[in-house]
Amino acid sequence: MKIYFQNSLSRKKEEFKPIKKNKVGLYTCGPTVYDYPHIGNLSAYVIWDVLKRFLLSQGYQVKHIMNLTDVGHLVSDADEGEDKIETAKRREKKTAWEVADYFIEVFQKNIAELNILSPTKFLRATDTIKEQIDFAKVLDEKGYLYKTSDGMYFDTSKIADYGRLANLAEVEQQEGARVAKNPEKKNANDFAVWKFSPQNSQRDMEWDSPWGKGFPGWHLECSVMSRMELGDTFDIHTGGVDHMTVHHPNEMAQSEAFTGKLQANYWLHNQHLRYEGGKMSKSAGVFIKLSDLEEKKYSPMSFRYFILQNNYRKPHNFSWQALSAAQAGLKNILRSIAFFDQAKAKASKEFLAEFYTALADDFNTARALSVLQKVLESKLEDKVKLATVLKMDEVLGFDLESLRKRFLDLPEEAKILLKEREVARENKDWARADQLRDKLVAWQVEVQDTSAGQKAIYNWLE
Ligand code: AMP
Ligand code: ZN
Repeated sequence: MKIYFQNSLSRKKEEFKPIKKNKVGLYTCGPTVYDYPHIGNLSAYVIWDVLKRFLLSQGYQVKHIMNLTDVGHLVSDADEGEDKIETAKRREKKTAWEVADYFIEVFQKNIAELNILSPTKFLRATDTIKEQIDFAKVLDEKGYLYKTSDGMYFDTSKIADYGRLANLAEVEQQEGARVAKNPEKKNANDFAVWKFSPQNSQRDMEWDSPWGKGFPGWHLECSVMSRMELGDTFDIHTGGVDHMTVHHPNEMAQSEAFTGKLQANYWLHNQHLRYEGGKMSKSAGVFIKLSDLEEKKYSPMSFRYFILQNNYRKPHNFSWQALSAAQAGLKNILRSIAFFDQAKAKASKEFLAEFYTALADDFNTARALSVLQKVLESKLEDKVKLATVLKMDEVLGFDLESLRKRFLDLPEEAKILLKEREVARENKDWARADQLRDKLVAWQVEVQDTSAGQKAIYNWLE
């Protein structure tokens, strides 16, 4: 099947052609681990998870690399201000190392809860310092770097088409290179490859280098790790649209300066999850965590469903109401498949083809979900419906099989009430049966009377 992606680099929908047959090298910019991931960050990882699952469904072997930024991301993307991890250590009253360890753990727990497949490899920025210094040394030898009082900067004027990604961006202008201009920079877009430790304070994270004690600039880790794991040029690079203006052009510039080649062939960017009129962001302070959803009794899978209802290249407004609607949508799917026959059946080829075609079109998840609905509304046999939906779920990643099992896993108290109700029905004591039905509702158990007897589901997705 031909797959098409909207490539931010060409601004066109292009047919996907991997470098090596049946293999895909995929790099996803990971989180900066100085705070809880918010549901905006997590939405991005849900999106790239579906991309990866789709590639797997089409028979590709996917090598997926993700970095964890635990050093060097400064308060402003333009290399101004303090390292975010250093700021967080005062807030958290921990060392920078403890802050990073803690939030890496939270991030990994969150992605597991969202049923996001783990990357082939996670790499921490602080675990690749030697490789980053070696990489920067080559850039220096090739004449791309210059020294200022606070670090070694990359001279972007030496790259003929620096920022072609940013120039193409149809995104709102981010802060970044345009604010707090450093007068020592030769060009506004120049960025730090190595920062010196401040004279007057001791950092928790710092290393010796040929240029002086300090730490790597934020963009360096991605150029280095992607090359280490995926080679000079790999297939797909993903990230949020905020990366189109600063981080990705800088990664690309470093990589091209080092290898003389394009870093990645396809650059895919997710639009932002918005909340109350703006981008949900950690720095703005108004953000919602996955645990906030769970406290309000939303399942992480309902959030996943909410994300997939949108096209990843359209901004998506988060609201509690919309999340409730998504939860209701997921519940309807589970309700309709709860009692389907487990017997092995073949998935419907026609519906699967329609589903994959939707995803092959720049992985249109909203359309793919509508194909799943069509399956449920179709005249197919129940067991075929189930087989088809579960096959689709390999890409959508809701883990429908275990969710529907939870629908059938009734609380013990409810089982007792159901038995009593069976007796009441046998005795044609309809008043008692109705009373027991109401009692069951209090246990979140819905009961239906069918020709085959009572059928009950535990409606845990309330
Ligand atoms: P950060 O931890 O800030 O480096 O961000 C991690 C990832 O989340 C990056 O790929 C960002 O582009 C992405 N991201 C940040 N905010 C949002 C948002 N509101 N919606 C979607 N993705 C976002
Ligand atoms: Zn990156």
